[in-house]
Amino acid sequence: MIIVTQPGATEKEIEAIIGVLTEHGFDIHRSTGVRHTVIGAIGVQPDFDHRQIELLPGVAEVVRITEPYKIASRAFRQEGTIIDVGNVKIGGDEVVIMAGPCSVESEKQIFTVAERVAKGGAKLLRGGAYKPRSSPYAFQGMGEEGLKLLRKAADAFKLCVITEVMDASQIRLVEKYTDVIQVGARNMQNYTFLKELGKASKPVMLKRGLSATIEEWLMSAEYILSGGNHNVMLCERGIRTFEPSTRNTMDIGAIPLVKKKSHLPVIADPSHGIGIRDKVIPMARASVAVGADGIIVEVHNDPDHAKSDGAQSLFPDQFDQMMKEVRLIAAAIGRSIA
Ligand code: PEP
Ligand code: MN
Repeated sequence: MIIVTQPGATEKEIEAIIGVLTEHGFDIHRSTGVRHTVIGAIGVQPDFDHRQIELLPGVAEVVRITEPYKIASRAFRQEGTIIDVGNVKIGGDEVVIMAGPCSVESEKQIFTVAERVAKGGAKLLRGGAYKPRSSPYAFQGMGEEGLKLLRKAADAFKLCVITEVMDASQIRLVEKYTDVIQVGARNMQNYTFLKELGKASKPVMLKRGLSATIEEWLMSAEYILSGGNHNVMLCERGIRTFEPSTRNTMDIGAIPLVKKKSHLPVIADPSHGIGIRDKVIPMARASVAVGADGIIVEVHNDPDHAKSDGAQSLFPDQFDQMMKEVRLIAAAIGRSIA
């Protein structure tokens, strides 16, 4: 149940509303907006009569949420969530570009790529230091050394950092180096991990699981939100279907759909979404056209010798081309790309 207060409701009235809800055993999630305060009352109380709340002073509206996800739903926050990352706002008019290699491989590599993507207009530098690989024999990432290099390269070119955390034991360490925590597709339903991310101090980008439905994806976001971390963005990175010609099937339709169902920003990952280098730019264009709030894309200075995902990584010149094209699309729909 969502309670929207009247504009100008006093703190005393809001506290009284929260008091009644708490007394009835609801968990409270409060969100203070410019005009209204929105109180999310989470929990199943079959005997509770919501008219009890409607009658209280300061209450404008009581909305019952039928979806299983509550805090993630559009009803909880009508306006889209905007997440501050450094000086960047994710979820506003600007479409934010995150770019970098799949994995951090060396100082020279990450500095070369960081310089190029920063020049091209990226705001966040991506790069994995802990890599979830299908084979235990494949490159697993540079670990903390990789985090240090990523931070150093990002700082040198005034970029923010997004990098993956693979399990709860790494959260505290990675938080020291990153601005956004990436949760990989394979971890989307690791619920104990998601609960811990609810206590993290940094925003989280939650990738959609390989065979996750949109509802399952939003329920996973709900784990993080209900744990207390309200800075969650979603990332469509392609799902597994019967089609083998592309690495994944990028569910472009999920982007506008999720934006209708949820207030959380949605990022598109055309690199993993299609998995073929020369199809990444068109998928990036499509993502912006359907309303993605950001693009995360793999770029490598020498993709043919990359330690992971070289075949889907753009050459720096291709990244520049992508930026040129997505800027045009963004402008056509009243958005911008820096
Ligand atoms: C990645 O971003 O390099 C990655 C491993 O992504 P995903 O979890 O979507 O496969
Ligand atoms: Mn990758």
